[in-house]
Order: sequence, then C-alpha cells, then structure tokens
Amino acid sequence: MVKLSQRANKLQPSATLAITAKAKKMRSEGIDVIGFGAGEPDFATPSHIIDAAIGSLRAGDTHYTPVGGTAELKNAIIQSIKRDYDLDYASNEVTVNCGAKHTLYNIFMSILDPGDEVIIPAPYWVSYPEQVALADGVPVILETSEADGFMPDPEKLAALITPRTKAIVLNSPSNPSGSMIDAAGMKKIADVVAGTDVLVISDDIYHRLLYDGTKFVSILEVAPSLRDQVVIVNGVSKTYAMTGWRIGYALGPQSLIGAMEKLQGQSTSNPTSFAQKGVIEALTGDQSCVGEMVGIFARRRALLVDGLNALPGITCRMPVGAFYAFPNVSGVYGSKTPAGARITDSFSLAGYLLEDALVAVVPGAPFGSDANVRMSYATGEEAIEKGLSRMAVALAKLS
Ligand SMILES: *Cc1c(COP(=O)(O)O)cnc(C)c1O
Repeated sequence: MVKLSQRANKLQPSATLAITAKAKKMRSEGIDVIGFGAGEPDFATPSHIIDAAIGSLRAGDTHYTPVGGTAELKNAIIQSIKRDYDLDYASNEVTVNCGAKHTLYNIFMSILDPGDEVIIPAPYWVSYPEQVALADGVPVILETSEADGFMPDPEKLAALITPRTKAIVLNSPSNPSGSMIDAAGMKKIADVVAGTDVLVISDDIYHRLLYDGTKFVSILEVAPSLRDQVVIVNGVSKTYAMTGWRIGYALGPQSLIGAMEKLQGQSTSNPTSFAQKGVIEALTGDQSCVGEMVGIFARRRALLVDGLNALPGITCRMPVGAFYAFPNVSGVYGSKTPAGARITDSFSLAGYLLEDALVAVVPGAPFGSDANVRMSYATGEEAIEKGLSRMAVALAKLS
C-alpha cells in the first residue's frame, strides 16, 4: 500500500458522483434512467470550431506553445472581453489554462498561505471549497437565503471579512442556483470589498447563458475602480459546448497572472495547442451558435420549472441563467416511502427518486443547500417531460 499524503487523504471525492455513478450503472444494466445530473451542454461543439482545430492539427500545431497560451489566443480573449464586458486588458494580464476549473486552482495555489480564508457564498459550485482546502486555505461559507434569491447579503459579507481573508468567490449566474447578482447587488458587494485587500474571484463561466434578455453584470462594470482587486475567470466550456476541450482563462492584475503562469510552467505547461486554435475560432468567429443554444435552453427551462412547480411539496424559482433548476424540495422531507423509509434530506430524496422513479437528480447538500436538489436542463424536452411525470408518480406515493 502506498502511504498517501495528508493532502490526498483530506480531499473529498466529488460528493455528487455517487448518485451519478449509480445512475450510470443502472443505465449500463439496461434500466431506462432519466438523467438530470449533466453539468455540461448536451450539444456537440459547433462545426466551424471543430474545423478550426482539425485545420490546426493539419497545419502542424502539434508542439508546445507559450505556457500561458499563444499570443493569438490571448488577443482573441482580450477582444471577446472588450466585446462582452467593455473592459481593456493587456496581454500580460491574461493567462490561458486547461479549463476554468484549472484556472481557479492556479489562482488559489497562487494566493493562499496555510490558514488564509476564502469567502464562498452558498449555494456554491462543489469544487470551490475543495480547491481552497487543497491549497491549504480555509473555505468560509457565506449563507444566503432562497427567499432573497440566494443573493449574498453585504452586511453578512462584511462580518465575515477578517485579517486572514484573501478572497471572495462570486459565481453569477450561479451553478447550482441559476441566480444572478444584479447591478445594485453587485454595487453593494463592491462597496464592502473596496478598501480591503480582498481579491474578488469572479467566475463568469455562465455569463452568456442568460434568459429573457437579462444582461450580464460584472463587478467591474459597477465598480471599475476595483480593477486591481478583481480576477475574471471564464472559458468556453459552457458557452460553446466545449467541455472536453479543456480551455479556460483568467484576466486580472499582472502580478497574479505572472504567478499563475509560473505555477503552470512547472505543472501542466501550455493548454493543448490545437484546442487553443479552436477557441480562437469560438471567440472570434460566428456567434450565432450561442444564441441558438440559449434559445433551446430557454424552452427547456420553462418546461422543467413549470413542471416542477406543479409537483406537490416542490417549489422552484425561475433560474435567470446557466442551465440548472434548483427546486426547493424540503416540503417533501419528513414523509415516508412505500417501503417505510423516511425522506429526511436531499440525499435521501435523490436516492428515492432514482430507485422508485428512475430519475437522477443531484442532492443540494454538497452545494451547501440541503433543502434543494439540482436538476440540469441540458437534456432533451422529451426526457424532461418523462422525468417530470415519473416524479409526479413517485411523489404521490409518499405519505
Ligand atoms: C463548469 C464550471 C466551471 C469549469 O468549467 P471548465 O470546463 O473547467 O472550463 C467553473 N465554474 C463553474 C461554476 C462551472 O459550473
């Protein structure tokens, strides 16, 4: 037996994995499970992007590139940020990594000393606290309330800031809740962090997956003076259905970007050369694919959320962005299954739905919100309808 490090031992495997793995196993046994677990678009990457990567391979882009991405890609990112945020960045303020998850990891590894704190509003993406802990930091959870649309409360935020606070993570639109911090809310957060040394890590991976004409709000739009205190994290995975390509990026203060590149130079080196070429096409080529995908997500969102709200014991806010519904299922807690087991939390409900209804949902507890479950609508309308009617049958059996 290899004796593992404390670091390896304390790292939690993705808590959402258990249900997903079980659903997968059932499917492999020929059981018709309807999956709402997907954390990625179900669309194929648009073909003009694929063609660019194939062309790049044929043209001989098979060597190392600069560690933090090619100059051409950095330039494409700078242009896209100009277009979407109206912000100007220089090439030494941009770094390209192997997915936005890797971008976040490089940031935490570059800013945290043992015991340093990072404030994370709940509900949160499961990897934030784990990555902070992996970098020897301490995740500090900022509780929010569903009644307030999961908005971080500026007073509660202020109360959590200590001399050890290094950063706060903002993820708007949010995975898992689909909520977005509006301009007024963003301004209040900006007012709290202004004048402190707290870095704002703005995970904007869903910034173009917004519905009903809602406009994305960056903290730098409402508080441009925070520029030296904000790092923007973004990528192509969600916007262009490119999860497998593994390209994400950061834009921020040069000192941080330089540290991230030094770290990357001793770990992964550059992100894949021909994937970088595909990303240039994604960011600078025809953007109509994004609108088309958002249009399809919008129809599914309405179908799923309306259907959920019609189920007994379940209420669901209309998500503003991303592709997840985050229904509150606590009205079902306390009830009994036909087998006599009690539904007590998001895990037991998810377990019951999987076994009885053959519907896979992700428990909210690992996202910091046990009253909810996460249901992705990155799946077809037929599956959504079928899943909803199966849930209705299973919920009717509870007493
Ligand atoms: C999917 C996701 C990411 C990471 O995406 P990559 O595929 O690593 O680029 C980061 N943050 C959130 C909130 C996500 O949902």
